[in-house]
Amino acid sequence: MYQHYARPGPEVDCELPGHAVAILSVQGSSPGVHIVDVNTDYQRLWGGSREDWLGSEPIIVQQEAVNRQIFAQLHDALNPLINDAGSFFEGIGGLEVNRRFDGSRRYVEWRITAMGVRHNDAITLVLTQRDVTEQMEKEAQLERLATTDMLTGLVNRAHFDAVLKSEFNRQHRYSRPLSLIMLDLDYFKDINDNYGHDVGDEVLIELANLLKRNLRKADCCARWGGEEFMLLAPETSLEQAVRLADKIRGAIKHTAFPIQGSVTASFGVVEVHPQESIKSAMKRADDALYLAKDKGRDQVSTGGLFSSAKQA
Ligand code: GH3
Ligand code: MG
Ligand code: MG
Repeated sequence: MYQHYARPGPEVDCELPGHAVAILSVQGSSPGVHIVDVNTDYQRLWGGSREDWLGSEPIIVQQEAVNRQIFAQLHDALNPLINDAGSFFEGIGGLEVNRRFDGSRRYVEWRITAMGVRHNDAITLVLTQRDVTEQMEKEAQLERLATTDMLTGLVNRAHFDAVLKSEFNRQHRYSRPLSLIMLDLDYFKDINDNYGHDVGDEVLIELANLLKRNLRKADCCARWGGEEFMLLAPETSLEQAVRLADKIRGAIKHTAFPIQGSVTASFGVVEVHPQESIKSAMKRADDALYLAKDKGRDQVSTGGLFSSAKQA
């Protein structure tokens, strides 16, 4: 019999071609599942010939423990049918990561459905497997494109809006500290005018890298507009957010951007009030940023106090 879960030889094509199909039989009285037929895609996927597979237990993914779980799930789902021939089996399915021996991952979508009527005590099933790795990667790439700012690689405004909503909900529910930092480069128009738009772009990319280096995993940093950036810092009080903004302010000032002289930025910082709307917190951050500009730029300002009467 074909050796299950053996290291596939060089003749085994693990790039799942079309649909791998195996016809399975389950004896109502025993827990085993065995193969009564396989198509060529199944043989190509798992190796061995048709004859090798007849009578064997099927493989859904390389990991034996995962297969065992799936068969236990199958038996649970078949139980009503085994005990009562009149009941209906809807089928089961899932999406598994098939880790190959070289460490790479393939995503396998599988489904087991009932086929025809039972003969005596045996139930005939169809297992189909499909490699959906390319599809999954394309979807992940589309998701990345939809949520990322192309120039800087930071989160874009649309995605930041979604993160804002979910963090505000969390904050309202659990009353955890949450702070917002708005950052705007000072006299950025002059950089474009003096050095050209391409150099301006390089400054923005460099700034985004600096921001990424200075943030914690939980923080979300977005390019909000041209030379304006937003930072959402969960579990961060106003005092901590001011310290973070000031650290970034100093880092920007002392970074050698591809222009002569230093680049500076102004910051507006607010801590979100437990009952505050997004609009109100953003307005306070914007006002604070305006204040920092007004006071001479290259500085951090905090927002006015939250007032529920002012909420829009
Ligand atoms: P302030 O200190 O008051 O913020 O002055 P500023 O010059 O930074 O502000 P202003 O709003 O007058 O100018 C922002 C400039 O940013 C104007 C716009 O051309 C430039 N800009 C916006 N997006 C991009 C971009 O993607 N690349 C480049 N190179 N420049 C951009
Ligand atoms: Mg500016
Ligand atoms: Mg601006």
